[in-house]
Amino acid sequence: MRDMKTDFDIVIIGAGLVGLTTALACAESGASVALLDRNTISVGADGRASALSSTSLRLFDNLGVDLRGQTQSIRDMLVTEGVPDAPWRLHFQGDVDGGDLGALIENTSLKAALVNKVKSSALITTHGPIEIHDAVHAADGVNVETDQGTLTARLLIAADGRNSVLRRKAGITAQRFDYDAASLVTTISHDLPHDGLAWQRLISGGALAVLPLTGDRSQIVWSGKTAGIQAATEMPEDSFLALLSEKMDGYLGDMSLIAPRQNYPLRLQMADGFTATRLALVGDAAHVIHPLAGQGLNLGLRDAAAIADGIKMARATGQDVGVSSLLDYDLWRNSDTRAVGLLTHIIAESSRLNIGLIGHARRLSLALTNRSDAIKSNLGKRASGEGHDLPDLMQFR
Ligand SMILES: Cc1cc2nc3c(=O)[nH]c(=O)nc-3n(C[C@H](O)[C@H](O)[C@H](O)COP(=O)(O)OP(=O)(O)OC[C@H]3O[C@@H](n4cnc5c(N)ncnc54)[C@H](O)[C@@H]3O)c2cc1C
Repeated sequence: MRDMKTDFDIVIIGAGLVGLTTALACAESGASVALLDRNTISVGADGRASALSSTSLRLFDNLGVDLRGQTQSIRDMLVTEGVPDAPWRLHFQGDVDGGDLGALIENTSLKAALVNKVKSSALITTHGPIEIHDAVHAADGVNVETDQGTLTARLLIAADGRNSVLRRKAGITAQRFDYDAASLVTTISHDLPHDGLAWQRLISGGALAVLPLTGDRSQIVWSGKTAGIQAATEMPEDSFLALLSEKMDGYLGDMSLIAPRQNYPLRLQMADGFTATRLALVGDAAHVIHPLAGQGLNLGLRDAAAIADGIKMARATGQDVGVSSLLDYDLWRNSDTRAVGLLTHIIAESSRLNIGLIGHARRLSLALTNRSDAIKSNLGKRASGEGHDLPDLMQFR
């Protein structure tokens, strides 16, 4: 690090999708940022795609992240249970204003666009691979000790994922619930067009999601008990495709696998607080939720925009960014995160415990929700993030 800048307004540890976005959001207000990762900061290999809400898409637009040609709009969303014509279904055709319901993007495409933008920013310095040894409080900031020297900052942001070392080092405890469940993720190409339909079927013990990608391709996210998902990951490809096609009632015609099947263990995890002295947690370092509703990254992006709001305000009023930017952050992000986490947990647990009254209650609530425009509009707003007090970077400009 010799001859390089070592004093920053903000040091961010972790350059995943949330850390990269947080760096851009913080730099937007003119703050200097160092972004550190123990791995090389590059696109990497991630076979997943993310469903981005309209507010997340707006954030990227406002940050100048170029996603043109990389996203597939979600025009239609169908959640079913049982046979295709069963009354237990929830159907969204466009959002309340008739617009798209968000968009799908492959994680590698999103990361490539973010890395490009970060590396072209004059305010952001990146270091990776780098080993973080410690973060020690000083009188007016934090010293981040690494294998390549010490960096100083007013504020430290932990974007170091679900096993966050910084969270544990700061003494912030977390509540954790392991689902004994996993998601099998892969990509298919298919004969029939998906027409922008995001299709989800609640099946015994879990859920099968078929999410539209660009072209005649879709992402499969099949969640269920760990042992069953492991077996589906290992079965011969033609048997797997036959099983998949049967569960999908063949609605996409002939299909081929175009990516390996990958397995992700699932957990619910909530930090008991999102801040400590001169420290903010963002993304999976703060919260991990079941992927069933495709909301984990969207929550992390709302964290990024919210902390950037606090930093902008602190800088505009000449205050210490390491102190005043945290004042509203915990309260602001806690309620949103817990509400979304609880909702996905209830859906996940009710499909896992597919028995007696719980199963009946779930089927009935799908049918009733489908008949109520008010509840549907409320759910849609919650999923898109529009129902909240939105950070500046997520508002229309
Ligand atoms: C199957 C599946 C499907 C999903 N689908 C969706 C979806 O459709 N929509 C959605 O919104 N969300 C979805 N999610 C959730 C989403 O993928 C995550 O919430 C998101 O990727 C978390 O990003 P992150 O940057 O916080 O963490 P991570 O991606 O885990 O990044 C953490 C970064 O920190 C670095 N790091 C870790 N420890 C250290 C350290 N000690 N020092 C330095 N660097 C460190 C790592 O190298 C990494 O780069 C899904 C999740 C799963 C499992």
